Amino acid sequence: MFYDAEHFFDGYKANPEYAVRTLLAAEAAGAECLVLCDTNGGTLPQDVEKVISTVRKRIKTPFGIHAHNDSEVAVANSLAAIRLGAVHVHGTMNGYGERCGNANLCSVIPALKLKLGIDCVSDANLARLREVSRFVDELANLPHRKRQPYVGDSAFAHKAGVHVDAVAKNPLTYEHIIPEQVGNKRRILVSDMAGKSNILQKAAELNIALDKESPELSAILKKVKELENEGYEFEGAEGSLELLMLRAGHNYESVFAMFDRIDYRILTEKRKVDPHPVSEATVTVEVGGNVEHTAAWGNGPVNALDKALRKILPRYFPGKGLEKVRLLDYKVRVLTAAEGTAARVRVLIESGDGRNKWGTVGVSENVIEASWQALVDSIEYKLLRASKKK
Ligand SMILES: [Zn+2]
Repeated sequence: MFYDAEHFFDGYKANPEYAVRTLLAAEAAGAECLVLCDTNGGTLPQDVEKVISTVRKRIKTPFGIHAHNDSEVAVANSLAAIRLGAVHVHGTMNGYGERCGNANLCSVIPALKLKLGIDCVSDANLARLREVSRFVDELANLPHRKRQPYVGDSAFAHKAGVHVDAVAKNPLTYEHIIPEQVGNKRRILVSDMAGKSNILQKAAELNIALDKESPELSAILKKVKELENEGYEFEGAEGSLELLMLRAGHNYESVFAMFDRIDYRILTEKRKVDPHPVSEATVTVEVGGNVEHTAAWGNGPVNALDKALRKILPRYFPGKGLEKVRLLDYKVRVLTAAEGTAARVRVLIESGDGRNKWGTVGVSENVIEASWQALVDSIEYKLLRASKKK
């Protein structure tokens, strides 16, 4: 039997003796663990330490900690309690919980294992931390929080040239643990600042054969800069970046090369009798004189386009798992117009197939065209991955 002492820290502030007596009563009744709760999340680590230092002298039963994140110190409070002897920690994956959440186990677990030397989980299980974190995001249907410590996409991401160079020479300069210990990995972001070394590292990360002497290297660099000037951004669109690198090579042929044409058409209709507009997308493909077209409805033009594409393409690429691909996130950003030109939009989409997620990007003056580019890249990327596995 565990005793959850709800509101313990606030109760202690108001009446220390009474708060301790509730613990002693639970102890006398046979509780195996007394869980000290910071129910409203307002306690700071130094106060947790102060209270626990006193309280632990009065109790004989093992104790635990239940911290909420309203002051953004739920993890710090949990670690403070553990340092003072807590043997039981309440927390949640990714910190999900009421209001600002509970202590984030994705941070508590690696801190215990890697920094405090507490062997609470096997190395093999710790290496699956990021996978579990993403799985829970997936179940909760919440976007993955990029800046989440240890398991976030940005946790070991490096951008500026100097950082990339330094981290290659000595990872400790900008990485506090080895990313793989928690199932994460170092990411090199390609950006305006991208130099050749960033591109080379990125290629290595993506298993693309490219070295300093490769003739494609300057072509890729040129293309990246050109596209970035047009408003493309490859952070969060590594699927498109990988395709860009491959397309620069001489022996890459797009899976879509088999189509003599692959066209789309979109209609959106709103009728007085129906409060919601409906979009219909038609995708037409032609292979060796055979023309086929498929239509799909959607609650918006991009949704309809996505459905139509995924209705027609699996027929041409059977067994590649295309039917499992889902659109997970869709972001549109209006880019400031250069003088005398129309404003462009950048569409970033995140797709997933239940196992992996990838991002792709499109830019155009037309939001549908930008979406189309990102959708087509997403499918090409999936097909590429499917054939690589064989
Ligand atoms: Zn709670």
